[in-house]
Amino acid sequence: MIRAKNTAESGLAISSKTKIVFPDVCARCGAQTHKTIPVKIKAGSPHHHNFEVISLLGTPGHIAGGINELLAGSTKIPCCRVCRRPYVVGYAVCIACIVGEGILCYLGPTYVNTVPEWLLMICIFLGLFLFIGIILASTIGQEIAAPVRIWRDASGYYYYFFSGAYRDWTQKQRAHPL
Ligand SMILES: [Zn+2]
Repeated sequence: MIRAKNTAESGLAISSKTKIVFPDVCARCGAQTHKTIPVKIKAGSPHHHNFEVISLLGTPGHIAGGINELLAGSTKIPCCRVCRRPYVVGYAVCIACIVGEGILCYLGPTYVNTVPEWLLMICIFLGLFLFIGIILASTIGQEIAAPVRIWRDASGYYYYFFSGAYRDWTQKQRAHPL
């Protein structure tokens, strides 16, 4: 996965001891939203970003503790309908590929002896293509739509947002810890 380097200035890097629950604002464009997108949490720590260490301990309304949360390999990040579209499209493509593969597998045995060879070849390639789509489509969509990269190691969570949508909110959390 190629990581864009020129986003560093507009991006926002945060590290926190606990998992942060962000406000109902899209992490990519800043629009008010109640939609979320699942984001996978990678093990280990990022090496090439400067992380602003933010302590959000003591703001219970914004912290989701609990062992289940810690064990979870992914988290939900607010992301508006427009910005999460690649995720939805990827998911839809994945479903479409499953359906297509199902149809091929269903029709295959029936027509394998009656269709011309070239059509059979096309169907085999189509089957392979659909198979790859099933495996990759939703992952790719999720990767494209994800507004953040998240890592976790023994010292806590590292969030790297591609946009500065939470910059003000983060400053407020730092300025007024309870
Ligand atoms: Zn958005």
